[in-house]
Amino acid sequence: MQRWRTTSVAEHPPLISFNHRVVPWDEARLHVWSEYAIRGASVFEGIRAYWQPVVEAYACLALQEHIARLYRSAQLLRMPLDVAPEQVIDDIAVLLEALDLRQHAYIRPTLYVDEDRPAGSVGVYVGAFPMPHAEQCWMGIRACVSSWRRAGDDVAPPRIKWGAGYGILRLARNEAVSGGYDEAFLLNDRGHLTEATGAAVFIVRDGVAATPPLSAGILESITRTRVLELLQTELGVPVEVRDVQRSELHIADEVFTCGTLREIVPVTHVDAWTIGDGQTGPITARLRDRYFAICDRAETAPHGWMTTMRQRRGVA
Ligand code: PMP
Repeated sequence: MQRWRTTSVAEHPPLISFNHRVVPWDEARLHVWSEYAIRGASVFEGIRAYWQPVVEAYACLALQEHIARLYRSAQLLRMPLDVAPEQVIDDIAVLLEALDLRQHAYIRPTLYVDEDRPAGSVGVYVGAFPMPHAEQCWMGIRACVSSWRRAGDDVAPPRIKWGAGYGILRLARNEAVSGGYDEAFLLNDRGHLTEATGAAVFIVRDGVAATPPLSAGILESITRTRVLELLQTELGVPVEVRDVQRSELHIADEVFTCGTLREIVPVTHVDAWTIGDGQTGPITARLRDRYFAICDRAETAPHGWMTTMRQRRGVA
């Protein structure tokens, strides 16, 4: 199976959508002196398109929510918004069709500002990569609590998904990796749990799932909302949206992260503590299996979860 790394410019798909045209990868260039390059003046999304072999089409998970969040991020940064959301969706559809990956994909639409563009206009590019479910969803990961804090809404609003905002998450992730961990959890200035470096966090104690509130200082994670819905309505697990203290992570029966890219990932260790028996917990396993059933067989998805992407191939 062909795989490219989302973080590598050396291994990449042959095509990318750049300002509404599908072009060879190398043609999507921005100047080193742009605001984009120097200060990270961009907002972006990570969206999953799940290939449905039976109907030979992509089903995008929570597409409208992702596009809405992209525009909220841009609005908060007062970026010019002269491109309609429907145009970005169209760019995604055209790129998927041009790449013709025929397997699960990860899509990253990005809006950027750059002085070379006409005043009041926003730049848009979209990359798409093959992206199967990660093996960590079955193996689990080891996480540490980072010494770096997640800044609050009055410092660097975590609800904005912006390039520059990911610096702090990079610090935390580097710290985790150099300590031999797979992932880091960040606390806020009150010492409460916020999120992981690219995913929301849940704990399970005595059969009740808990996750920090948005006011703890987290991205408005779309998967977190979907997981809350699944736990309550399908799995019959009571949920609490409340502050989670650091020590609760260590004594929880189960800990898992969730996000569009990483999906549902069991956390088997936090710092020096083993979570439960060090295996995937039963609630996490049920949740993961249901989540993957939704992704892989979109016809089983609850109403409103999936958007089928149009296929123009074969149409005159
Ligand atoms: N927190 C952060 C910091 C993230 O980057 C992500 C990934 N977008 C998430 C949480 C999960 O958000 P979502 O469920 O919308 O993908």
